Amino acid sequence: MASGAVRPIFHQVPLPGYRPLHRPSPLAAVWSIRLPLKIQIFMWQWIRGWIPSGVEVRKCNGPGSGLCPLCDVPEDSNHIFFSCVSAQFVWSCFREVVGGSWCHTNFPDLFAELQNSPLPSRHIRWLEIGAIAWTLWTICNKLVIQRSLRRATDAIFKLSGYLQLWRPLSRPQDRDAISAFIADLRSMAVRLSPPPPPPPPEPH
Ligand SMILES: [Zn+2]
Repeated sequence: MASGAVRPIFHQVPLPGYRPLHRPSPLAAVWSIRLPLKIQIFMWQWIRGWIPSGVEVRKCNGPGSGLCPLCDVPEDSNHIFFSCVSAQFVWSCFREVVGGSWCHTNFPDLFAELQNSPLPSRHIRWLEIGAIAWTLWTICNKLVIQRSLRRATDAIFKLSGYLQLWRPLSRPQDRDAISAFIADLRSMAVRLSPPPPPPPPEPH
């Protein structure tokens, strides 16, 4: 074919019955979220169901009862990230700040809502969900040791701390929205659980 000639269109049309060998999974979008690599790997493990929950550890004869220390029910991955009282509290705060349903019991349902969110905000939602999942996972690990949650709002302060830490990695056009989300979360946490009053003056 002469240089500069237009390639015939049939070269671009797949043959009948053609199936690409590697269709990129929509879940692969997790690798494009502007989060530390460690968190991306954690998210990939979460969405593939590879999280070592209490139930999974128990199956491998690992330590622990396999029960959630807060709810006293089998602690599988869906419990940690959706059904546990701590998870439900965090999702309800998220719902309050960003709108939408965000009331799910498993990742595929959460992912469906995520895929339905408006395109300009979808990347930010992914990022926020990554931070929520990491917060719930760290709380869950801490609970195994401490067996109690000091205050429910601590989870929200922890979540906003992670987002603040990871914000510089995000796209410049997303940073204002992330800051606004952090500010809304913090003010909600303060409203729900005001800081304790100062101690009474010492008697003379
Ligand atoms: Zn629980």
